[in-house]
Amino acid sequence: MPVSGKLPYDNSNIFARILRGELACNKIYENEFAFSFHDIYPQAPIHALVVPKGKYVSFSDFGATATAEEVTGFIRAVALITKKLSMEDSGYRIIANMGQYGHQEVPHLHMHILGGCQLSHRLALTDS
Ligand code: AMP
Repeated sequence: MPVSGKLPYDNSNIFARILRGELACNKIYENEFAFSFHDIYPQAPIHALVVPKGKYVSFSDFGATATAEEVTGFIRAVALITKKLSMEDSGYRIIANMGQYGHQEVPHLHMHILGGCQLSHRLALTDS
């Protein structure tokens, strides 16, 4: 079920638990400000998630309140992960769902990085 991206931060959300090492994940990369792992239910041949290490509920929250250092560290990590996953030449799509209409399910900001096949011209993930 989608959640509100405007609620106060909930320390028990799944990605907070992954960041604390309480839940296992298939890790791709981490730096001081970001942590990345494979989505447990991939919706494309490559489906990575990138979360900031700070406690940000949503893109709006992060954009409005994160420090310049956190924003830079996070965006640099996203770019580096696309390189690490060899997606730069073929291309990829980045999505951050926010709140109910965006169908955000986990209330900790995350970027979806999707690729590994031709995605739809619409913002659906595939044509099927
Ligand atoms: P969203 O709808 O944007 O909040 O996306 C949440 C994403 O988290 C979905 O694509 C889920 O498949 C993914 N997800 C949920 N639990 C886990 C988990 N334990 N490890 C990796 N990905 C997860």
